[in-house]
Amino acid sequence: MMLARYILYLFALVFPLVGIAQPKSIIIEVGLLYNSESNRFLENQMIWIEGDQIKAVGQSIKIPPTAQVIKLPAGSISPGLIDAHTHFLTNQKPSENLAIDSWINSPARRVLRGASYAREYLNAGFTAIRDLGNSGHYLDMELASAIRKGYVNGPHMFGSGPIISAMDGQFYQLPYDERNTITQKEYRVVSGVEDAVQAVKEHVNNGVDVIKIVAFGERLGLELEEMKAIVKTAHAHGLKVTAHSTGGESMASAIEAGVDGIEHAYYVNDTLWKKMAAKKIYMVPTDPSFNSIIQTQKSQGQTTHDTVAIRTELGPLRERLLRAKKEKILLVAGSDAYFDLLVSRGDAAKEMLIAYVEEGLTIEESLQTATLNAAKAIGQEGKLGIIKQGVKANLVIFDGNLQKDFRNALFNVYMVIKDGKIVYAKELHASK
Ligand SMILES: [Zn+2]
Repeated sequence: MMLARYILYLFALVFPLVGIAQPKSIIIEVGLLYNSESNRFLENQMIWIEGDQIKAVGQSIKIPPTAQVIKLPAGSISPGLIDAHTHFLTNQKPSENLAIDSWINSPARRVLRGASYAREYLNAGFTAIRDLGNSGHYLDMELASAIRKGYVNGPHMFGSGPIISAMDGQFYQLPYDERNTITQKEYRVVSGVEDAVQAVKEHVNNGVDVIKIVAFGERLGLELEEMKAIVKTAHAHGLKVTAHSTGGESMASAIEAGVDGIEHAYYVNDTLWKKMAAKKIYMVPTDPSFNSIIQTQKSQGQTTHDTVAIRTELGPLRERLLRAKKEKILLVAGSDAYFDLLVSRGDAAKEMLIAYVEEGLTIEESLQTATLNAAKAIGQEGKLGIIKQGVKANLVIFDGNLQKDFRNALFNVYMVIKDGKIVYAKELHASK
């Protein structure tokens, strides 16, 4: 739109050195608004942002004379996206072992690189993320703090600190001594109930936002009593616990121990579905889209792709996601993006929303996983993931129609607003 272009052009001229100028009042007019609470698209909506808050939402708002107006009749707006399962502090080449990254990169380098991923996420439309480990010795908390203090730009970041695990962590196929050394560096290895309690206390002391456990590693898992102690101590300190678990016995133990969420949940039997539903445990399906598998293959140098094999591979994931939906389990978006692909981390992460639609969720349901549902899972209900009067303005505007042309709109971000501030504007970005 010309008007919006003109306004942004002015910002660029007047404030070339301090980044994007921030008007006190912003009015956004869009053709489509995704309301995460009603899980519906609403047509021709206006949003009035004053300072860091949403002052009004509706079809007709009297425009204050000082407001900057952004009109995008063909555009769509959604609450800022939330990725509830990511790893800003690690990067794995698809052909390499996960442990390599922490061997060859210093903590400082990992934090600085993480800052660039944070920026990529923001540009892609994410205004909040939850980082679930593989982050060295609390490097996630350092990056979260740097974002909070404004040293670097990034989404609101919530971190777990080192993943709490049994002695084998998640580093596979390494010689014994090396595995022990690096696992101790990257995980909080616990042995026994007392140590499990101590691990959670250390995390509390380091200001983590959530406790992440690996229910089962390569050969060993946490004992049921250890998990129970972790959950009890975490809950006593107001922290939720989420468990990496693909299924089986370890998932049964995690559920019995009282975890709040299950990450991945690939192989779930009837009994476990019922228990998850009864205990209102959320699920984070870290599923790849068809395209993200192609991206992974390309990054490995593959130039031809067996599309039939890819679809066969994705079949079981689809079955279990639809089962979870049938059981009314809260589905929470999580990309588990940590691979070094040929696209930005933010774009790689957004493929999860495409995956959920490919698997049979509606576009609205997919968006809800990354807004309302994710906010609930990360303890930000009522604060993030919604567009509502009185809530801080965390929004993403897409230059396209999310309802009719989901993929193209989702990957065409026009503007991102975090706590009322314009943190990304496509036209300014393009002119740099
Ligand atoms: Zn993960």
